[in-house]
Amino acid sequence: MDEEVDVLVIGAGPAGSEAARSAAEGGASTLLIEKRAEIGTPVRCGEGVGKRWLVETGIPASRDFIAHEIRASRIVSPDGSSFVVEDHGGGKGGFILERDRFDRFLAKRAASAGARIRVRTSAIGLLREGGRVTGARCEHMGETFDVRARVVIGADGFESQVGRWGGLTTHLRARDVASCLQYTLVGIEGEPEYAEFHLGSMAPGGYLWVFWKGEDTANVGLGVPVSKLRDRADTKRYLDAFIARSPGLARGEIVEEVAGGVSMSLPVERSVGDGLLLSGDAARLIDPLTGAGIFNALLSGSYAGEVAAAAVREGNPSSGFLNRYDRMWRGRIEEELARHYLIKEGLQRTDDESLNRIIRAVADAKPAQVTAKVILGIVKERCPEALRPFARLLES
Ligand SMILES: Cc1cc2nc3c(=O)[nH]c(=O)nc-3n(C[C@H](O)[C@H](O)[C@H](O)COP(=O)(O)OP(=O)(O)OC[C@H]3O[C@@H](n4cnc5c(N)ncnc54)[C@H](O)[C@@H]3O)c2cc1C
Repeated sequence: MDEEVDVLVIGAGPAGSEAARSAAEGGASTLLIEKRAEIGTPVRCGEGVGKRWLVETGIPASRDFIAHEIRASRIVSPDGSSFVVEDHGGGKGGFILERDRFDRFLAKRAASAGARIRVRTSAIGLLREGGRVTGARCEHMGETFDVRARVVIGADGFESQVGRWGGLTTHLRARDVASCLQYTLVGIEGEPEYAEFHLGSMAPGGYLWVFWKGEDTANVGLGVPVSKLRDRADTKRYLDAFIARSPGLARGEIVEEVAGGVSMSLPVERSVGDGLLLSGDAARLIDPLTGAGIFNALLSGSYAGEVAAAAVREGNPSSGFLNRYDRMWRGRIEEELARHYLIKEGLQRTDDESLNRIIRAVADAKPAQVTAKVILGIVKERCPEALRPFARLLES
């Protein structure tokens, strides 16, 4: 079963499928491997995306994988005050996806571009020659085989091993990892045109979300930094308490429960080695403030495939050449990720009373458009003492 390809992509989430598509479109013979038996299942995601994200990554919005459209987000304080944000990363509104169908749509796009796909196939280690990564040892239903490749793309998600195998530092501190729990609730009532974000000690250091998937169905979940949890059952206690306090949600039934981790860190310092690229969650590209990683996975995957194909064409898979990829994603998203990291750090040090003051101040000011800059301006004017935990952000 041993084989040789130009580009081997490990993991068929959004990053991996986009990497495989763009590598194949760049003319590289490409193999995409996925350890699960079915791409996209089980879903471990709130499934929210900004509309503009799909536009920027050239993915047509389709009823095949969109469950629901939202008009705006509502940011809610512990005392129930709230303001509305219409802008989602430079565009208005968002979608709640059917993530399993979305992931399979992306894999199909990769296959249409010429990539081959193998499910139930795990990478179990990397092959190396003279320090350069030259492929991966793989396993399919108990059989072990080697795939030799000019470039390997590690798109193996939050629990990534490829980076570590390749000598790239992907270690996360407990304060930079959020433990998440989510229920899909049916038979509920609320405001389905909004995505809700609830801040405060009901989800200490993180937040609770309500992402509607239809008129009476929503993903209701939370993420809390591991450093703020006494034990894993804490996430369930917080989520159950929130639902019990929300009459519209408390009447619902749980039809699905998912748990998972997200990074709340800065991106990896190096996303490139000789013959190796890391993309998506594997490169710690989740937004540390919002926990959103789909867009950055799509974007970085697409860049990784493009650069890997170029490296194959030029016969140069050295880290010097592949660094192009590192520059591409940093140029597009690094500044925002760094700013969001500092906001996240400030929020982790903000108590409920200050959050109430900040959110009430923004709600009362009724700005025409809510951005991080506008919020800062309002808080500086109306309750400057609440900005103390954000000193590093203000200095930057
Ligand atoms: C509870 C929760 C809620 C979330 N909500 C949102 C949200 O609303 N919006 C948003 O934008 N983001 C959200 N995220 C984050 C988002 O799900 C991820 O950022 C996104 O899936 C990253 O895509 P990826 O391709 O990098 O990784 P993944 O989607 O994790 O894909 C990695 C793939 O690699 C495979 N794999 C792993 N190891 C191997 C191996 N050794 N060999 C072969 N295959 C392997 C895995 O099976 C998996 O299919 C959420 C995450 C969680 C946990």
